[in-house]
Amino acid sequence: MNENLIQTSSIETVKQYVKEWKDSGATIGLVPTMGFLHEGHASLIARAVEENDYVIVSDFVNPIQFGPTEDLETYPRDFEADCHLVAQMGASLIFHPTPEEMYGKDFFTHIYVDEMSQKLCGESRPIHFQGVCTVCMKLFHISEANRAYFGQKDAQQLAIIRRMVRDLNLNIEIVGCPIIREEDGLAKSSRNTYLKTKQEREAALILHHALTKALEMYEDGERRASVILEAMTQLIMTEPLATIDYIQAVAWDSLQDIEVIEEPVLIAMAVKVGPVRLIDNMILDRA
Ligand code: AMP
Repeated sequence: MNENLIQTSSIETVKQYVKEWKDSGATIGLVPTMGFLHEGHASLIARAVEENDYVIVSDFVNPIQFGPTEDLETYPRDFEADCHLVAQMGASLIFHPTPEEMYGKDFFTHIYVDEMSQKLCGESRPIHFQGVCTVCMKLFHISEANRAYFGQKDAQQLAIIRRMVRDLNLNIEIVGCPIIREEDGLAKSSRNTYLKTKQEREAALILHHALTKALEMYEDGERRASVILEAMTQLIMTEPLATIDYIQAVAWDSLQDIEVIEEPVLIAMAVKVGPVRLIDNMILDRA
């Protein structure tokens, strides 16, 4: 528990603390979030606290990663509860800027990781990863973090950020952390609050069931991606409330399509349950 959690919405204030910490030779961990924090975020913060002298958690619903018809306005927010959790986890500072603080009135610069940003979620969310990379680049610079922590829950995001860091020679280590799930298998997500009815909540388990099916087939020796994806598709189609956006198998580092699973492969999907779009995934390593 950090009784003295620093809360600020000012970039300048973060930079002052960062300078003080860096001058003393300390290491800094960064956990970028959009707030409405849950145990998934907490696991990232815990790891960051373990591995760094100071931890900055950013809590910012980043407008430039939302498309015009997406849920920017309705995205759940609870800053007070977030501060409580961040203090409890022992982080040093929570950074909660306004969109104006981050982007001012005349922001022109964007980071775009080609190839990887149009696939999977990028097909239905064409500007999403450009917004993610741009905000992460800003946060990396503001925080001067030694390490930044990302969940595998957003596997495409993690792969793209890793590629951005590699391609642009950024001096930061990207740490990927496992997916935290509810007891019944649903991946924890701030957007789970959109699952309003008992039926939707139950139907949402179909994502996890499909991944379990894929893992079983893989463990039984199946290596043809198309066969595994077809079985997952058939299973999801048995759930009347579910509509598949995509289910794909891609190489984990490049997100390029693959046919045979013989390197670390990401099986990723987006499925709408009623009106709620959920994502989930699994990484299959060579066994
Ligand atoms: P968000 O606030 O949804 O943008 O997520 C902030 C960070 O927390 C991202 O790196 C996510 O991948 C990570 N995260 C969200 N949900 C989970 C989860 N269930 N398990 C692990 N990490 C998560």
